Amino acid sequence: MPIDTFQHKGLRKRLCNELREKGISDEAVLAAIEKIPRHFFLESTFDTIAYEDRALPILCDQTISQPSTVAFQSQLLKIKRGEKVMEIGTGSGYQTSVLCELGAQVFSVERHKGLFDKAKRQLAELHYNAKTFLGDGYKGLPAYAPFDKVIITCGAPEVPQAIVDQMKIGAMMVIPVGNKIQEMRLITKLSDTELKTESFGNFRFVPMLEKRKF
Ligand code: SAH
Repeated sequence: MPIDTFQHKGLRKRLCNELREKGISDEAVLAAIEKIPRHFFLESTFDTIAYEDRALPILCDQTISQPSTVAFQSQLLKIKRGEKVMEIGTGSGYQTSVLCELGAQVFSVERHKGLFDKAKRQLAELHYNAKTFLGDGYKGLPAYAPFDKVIITCGAPEVPQAIVDQMKIGAMMVIPVGNKIQEMRLITKLSDTELKTESFGNFRFVPMLEKRKF
């Protein structure tokens, strides 16, 4: 297990100030980022770079999202304690841990076995009791539906209907939609047939991939 030093804690404080300047105002989200040792979710070579506001490589050619993106997506969802949140794209597990700190009951899906195993171990080590699943995010988790909130952390070519079907009426989903560049959308399920869509600018994510053998 890596060590969380005063230097790391200082770097996290500085990162939070940077996020405030970039428009993150949700104090619960900022407190989560200040508390969680992001460097635990990365290779040791990124020990201090972990607290720069940038995306970094993780296993299987994937990336841990930039802290400001994690904060932005988390803030848009306005998570309340006890809410059921489905995450697609566990990756390193860092965003998952932020959701746990916000008091959510988290159900997170990852398609890469290597990442799934590592994130599961890391989350347990930090005592976050998120439920993690190895599978295809396009299918969601029908056995655990319906959800209050959904967060997609990979670029989706379109909004997956199976996931919309697993949202409660009134539930919200934050999803980056697009191929090379994605538009961040906040989707509210108004009824079984009506969605409200709001857009929040462009981002760049690794793609949400179709099911294949893993
Ligand atoms: N939230 C993560 C970001 C990881 S990058 C973090 O904080 O580290 C996005 C992740 O989505 C990758 O790990 C990728 O393997 C995963 N992914 C892509 N398509 C997927 C799919 N169809 N189902 C589940 N996970 C998927």
